[in-house]
Amino acid sequence: MAKLSPVLKQATPVLAERGEGVHLYDERGRRHLDFTSGIGVTNTGHCHPRVVEAVRAQAGTLIHGQYTTVMHRPLLRLTERLGDVLPEGLDSVFYLNSGSEAVEAAVRLARHATGRQNIVAFQGGFHGRTMGAAALTTAGTKFRAGIGPVMPGRALAPFPQAYRYGWDEDEATRFALRELDHLLATDCSPGDTAAFIVEPVLGEGGYIPAPPAFLEGLRERADRHGVLLIADEVQTGFGRTGRFWGHQHASARPDVLVTAKGLASGFPLSAIAAPAALMERARPGSQGGTYGGNAVACAAALATLDVIRDEDLVGNAARTGERLQEGLRKVAADHPRIGDVRGLGLMQAAEFTAPDGGPDAAAAQAAHRAAAERGLLLLTCGAYGNVVRFIPPLVATEADIDEGLALWASAVAAC
Ligand code: PMP
Repeated sequence: MAKLSPVLKQATPVLAERGEGVHLYDERGRRHLDFTSGIGVTNTGHCHPRVVEAVRAQAGTLIHGQYTTVMHRPLLRLTERLGDVLPEGLDSVFYLNSGSEAVEAAVRLARHATGRQNIVAFQGGFHGRTMGAAALTTAGTKFRAGIGPVMPGRALAPFPQAYRYGWDEDEATRFALRELDHLLATDCSPGDTAAFIVEPVLGEGGYIPAPPAFLEGLRERADRHGVLLIADEVQTGFGRTGRFWGHQHASARPDVLVTAKGLASGFPLSAIAAPAALMERARPGSQGGTYGGNAVACAAALATLDVIRDEDLVGNAARTGERLQEGLRKVAADHPRIGDVRGLGLMQAAEFTAPDGGPDAAAAQAAHRAAAERGLLLLTCGAYGNVVRFIPPLVATEADIDEGLALWASAVAAC
């Protein structure tokens, strides 16, 4: 009998037998309130009936179309439908399986399109675990330690982390943009730079929304230097932040958008989108994969888009997100170890800080465990593991949010 490799590190001991809406049920039938959404994936809730029905129907018709061999309708229909939600001008789409793969595809595209090598990433960013995406990832050394050289040509600039430095957002933004200019003047020549890649909300690195002025500053510098702006919307897309795309909180449209997670409600599907004129500069055949744009995953994505539109999940994320943030602030007011509460929409976090001002991972981990014991599933994040994040499905009602907040208050009080 084979055993699962201990390389897997699991955040909770739960064995999930069944999912429905905002809940997971374990093997004993115990109900867990899922404020992880499978790391921001099940935006339509677990097993939304319309997604399930679309998947059933597609599975009985065509499972594997294989887009480099034959074309299939779910992919064509999805491409058409994505036109309704993609930022204006980003009208050319290509499909992969995972966020990491889509990031790699965006890098490949940027290098082909510009003929330049360097990619500037931002400190604390998470872009995936494959060797190229890992090179861009600085959310924690654990993602790269001990695996040897990864993709060359990555330069790193600060992300505006106001709370960490005790600054306000404007100070943090000024610092980050000044350091980026310095990087471009001293180390990473603009003429050698293909792209900036940024998360509109730093995800694994600590749930820190990018100040709009920072994204706008990147846009301005990208235009000035002929550098492409890649928005990694893998975690922030599909309504998560209370806008359809996270970058829409700023006036800064990316040149390349990377999406995955919420796109297909749990089926492995990712995509990059860019203006056709840019995509045309990629070498034909340079992108692809055996399972990319899988027919069942595309059918799930189409149903996902219908559900998001018909149930106004983006609006719901904005409304319930505000309620969640307000509630988290109330809990924090009674608990000095919670130094900061922040986020956009249903992408919220509480950061634990020790009396000396340093990160308090032990307190965050204890609160995370206590919440799980009470039936509230959460995740931690941040380089030091001291940030607890709240990512409920976007179908969460006010009552679900209130229930989660009550469980959180009880968990924190017990630590
Ligand atoms: N980019 C971001 C912003 C992410 O949050 C993640 C996953 N957490 C990835 C890329 C990688 O996606 P995947 O795990 O599907 O490869």
